[in-house]
Amino acid sequence: MSSRIQLYFTKYKQDGFARTGSLKTWRREISTPTIWFGLSVIERYDFQHTVLSVNNAECFLANAYDLLFQDKNGERRRLIRDLATKMCFKCDSGGFQTTKRETKLTVKHVYSLQRELECDIAVQLDFPLNPQASRESNRTKIDRTLKNLEEVLAINDKLSILPVIHGYDKKMLDYALRKVGDILGHDPPAVGVGSLVPLLMTSKGSGRVGGKRRVIDTLIYIRQKLPETFLHVFGAGGTMAYLITFCGADSFDYVGWVQKAGYGVIQLPGVSDRFISKRKKRKTLSEEEKKKLLECACPACRQYSLSAFQDRSSHARLLRAIHNVYVYQTEIWRIRESIKEGTFREFVFERLKNSVWAPLLRYADTQLVRLGAYPSRYKKIDAYI
Ligand SMILES: [Zn+2]
Repeated sequence: MSSRIQLYFTKYKQDGFARTGSLKTWRREISTPTIWFGLSVIERYDFQHTVLSVNNAECFLANAYDLLFQDKNGERRRLIRDLATKMCFKCDSGGFQTTKRETKLTVKHVYSLQRELECDIAVQLDFPLNPQASRESNRTKIDRTLKNLEEVLAINDKLSILPVIHGYDKKMLDYALRKVGDILGHDPPAVGVGSLVPLLMTSKGSGRVGGKRRVIDTLIYIRQKLPETFLHVFGAGGTMAYLITFCGADSFDYVGWVQKAGYGVIQLPGVSDRFISKRKKRKTLSEEEKKKLLECACPACRQYSLSAFQDRSSHARLLRAIHNVYVYQTEIWRIRESIKEGTFREFVFERLKNSVWAPLLRYADTQLVRLGAYPSRYKKIDAYI
């Protein structure tokens, strides 16, 4: 079946709600689950190009707002063109960025840039909800997002367009999904879901709309409603990626890697951010974690000792970034493997056993058992949490 959004998803293996698959865009195929590494506005060309290339990263993202207003000398456009020869490129609209700024984007503005850069996935211009706003005001935003989808589909002659839906409850989600279905003439083969990140961060007003558990409920609800649809979750990468994959997400972003490397953060699978050098109020690597790091096979750890990662030099920053991106890209490969083997549930419990997300994982597991995805709650759950 052909689709106006030029995105086609094939599901391969299912394990609970987690699945592997392949998303076909107008340009290439993308294996899922997948992670998109966000480009940074502050770091230079060489740094970002090196880190993503040496790790064979599969996907990266940039956003139209940054490119239109913060890429004065065109350096990032050059970086995008070079990276896109070997990696998939998702171009977000920047709707989230514009909510806090004076400058407003238009659908044409965003699309012409996406068209010029020939991105693999062009994300439609959307308007994220505000948990503190009234229902009416959020409903207006949902309607404006839907109108933008119609507008971009009318001018699109080539690209793969990702529709974005928002909603804090079933009623709002049902409304957005029904309208997207009306616009396309069929259920969407792919959607992005926005407005969830503030709930994960426990930002102001998030409790009002259900908080962190609402993120789990939302994903499970969409997944049940549209079992064959590719589902991207905006902004929810890092350790959270395990949990949302468990709930059926196929794709997520990881935008913090440049900043984190700058702060001195070292990441390990399933472990929250750690620092090498001791300073007040921050978590340093334990002896056991240092041992794990010594076993790391990334291009930086293979060549340099831990002391080279420590200081404020640009070289140390580069090493940290290479290591961190390696961790997340290789974790994606492991996630796919464990889904294929039917061991993803064990994998995610193991990865999150010491994480702040462990109670939320237990909540998600309970919901999945209730829905029949698994026969009973995870057997070793008490040993873990
Ligand atoms: Zn490493």
